[in-house]
Amino acid sequence: MESTTDTTVLILIWLAALALNVLIGYWAGKVGRRNGRSFGLCFCLGFFLGLIGVLIVYVIGPAYDSRPAPYGVAPPPDQCPPPDPYQQRTMVCGQCGKLVERSARFCPYCGARVAGPAPRGQ
Ligand SMILES: [Zn+2]
Repeated sequence: MESTTDTTVLILIWLAALALNVLIGYWAGKVGRRNGRSFGLCFCLGFFLGLIGVLIVYVIGPAYDSRPAPYGVAPPPDQCPPPDPYQQRTMVCGQCGKLVERSARFCPYCGARVAGPAPRGQ
């Protein structure tokens, strides 16, 4: 039966959308709880608004800061994540400008000699 198939497909799509909303709501709730907000409230935001709800939870930020974080503004230094250990192990090649392992003596991209550790008399 054609119509029965259509209904089944519709129900499946609806269920998938519902499951996706629950997932997004759970995500928003987790973000909100990390920021000291109500899990249920943020879950509802994510559930009803989808990704926009998650975005809202991210934008409103931590509960102890009532001001909404404006778009495009870097967080204050005390909220910055610790420096990436990868960046601490790398340096910029003076020849091609690419990131090179600090332990490397020659740039793997352009072959230029980079200021690596002092040569060990080889
Ligand atoms: Zn290079």
